Amino acid sequence: MKILSTEGLRKFFPIKAGVFLQVVGYVRAMQSVTMEISKGETIGIVGESGCGKSTLGRTIVKIYEPTGGRIIYHDDKGNEYDITKGLARNVRSKFRRDVQMIFQNPFDSLDPRMTVRDIIKEPIEAHNLLSKDEIDDYVGELLMKVGMYPEYAQRYPHEFSGGQRQRIAIARSISVSPRLIICDEPTSALDVSVQSQIINLLQELRDEIKMSYIFISHNLDVVHHMSDRIMVMYLGNVVETAGAKELFDYPAHPYTKALMASIPNWDPQERKLQNIKLEGEPPSPINPPPGCPFHPRCPYKMDICSKEMPDSFQVSESHSAACWLHEREDVVGQSG
Ligand code: SF4
Repeated sequence: MKILSTEGLRKFFPIKAGVFLQVVGYVRAMQSVTMEISKGETIGIVGESGCGKSTLGRTIVKIYEPTGGRIIYHDDKGNEYDITKGLARNVRSKFRRDVQMIFQNPFDSLDPRMTVRDIIKEPIEAHNLLSKDEIDDYVGELLMKVGMYPEYAQRYPHEFSGGQRQRIAIARSISVSPRLIICDEPTSALDVSVQSQIINLLQELRDEIKMSYIFISHNLDVVHHMSDRIMVMYLGNVVETAGAKELFDYPAHPYTKALMASIPNWDPQERKLQNIKLEGEPPSPINPPPGCPFHPRCPYKMDICSKEMPDSFQVSESHSAACWLHEREDVVGQSG
């Protein structure tokens, strides 16, 4: 059962300058993202810093208003709603309960003036899920579920380590029994020793509560570990999508191969990655290059690459790559 889909989702941020703050250009953070996520599925979104992956997550939960495209919310009865348009109050509330987000930095995402109890109970009260008498016991249960003592409910965020704060943020996000959690680099601000504990916790919760995740990370190892399906983003574009195993066994896009070849403990020879080196920085999203966005860094660049943006060609039935090298393999596209 589908939970959420996007069609050609786009987000540009205006650049303002001058006395009258006129718009002089745009940061094209996300160019066109089409995806869908179903019940119990984890989709990993991976790419270098600035590729648009966090913008995607924040646009889905409406922290950012999209510049174009659609976000379709599928409720648990199978109804579809375009949440980029105005929504009836009850649907908006249902969406806000169903789709939660965990942020990168637990030092910023928890209000330092609130106790842990108040932080966790806030969404429960906002959605009128429990009576006042029931809330304290439930907060205690949630804290235990994320590996903390119920007594911690009386304390404040500054009394905890980064890993513990992220556990509190996770307890808050699962408090309303969401169907989908968007995890935006949930471990990248934490000590390496704590990162795997948080990843394991997220996996245990997913298996227990049967949630779906959109898991955003620059760390390929973590995404590989967590995801059923993976989308690779580059300069605001999705350049490759495949099942996690297929993507890691048979990466098709030169950018994906370069990302994988840069992982120190993976043998590029064994993975047939031709050891492509990722050199230089991605171009500016203010003035992206014409054609394929990866062409200024791509060792396989052809004439067409700097002129025309490649379509997303099917490499196999559930594997696509936006690269001219795969035009001839596009069996599914040709037959359709
Ligand atoms: Fe490289 Fe061309 Fe493929 Fe872009 S379309 S990744 S430049 S070969």
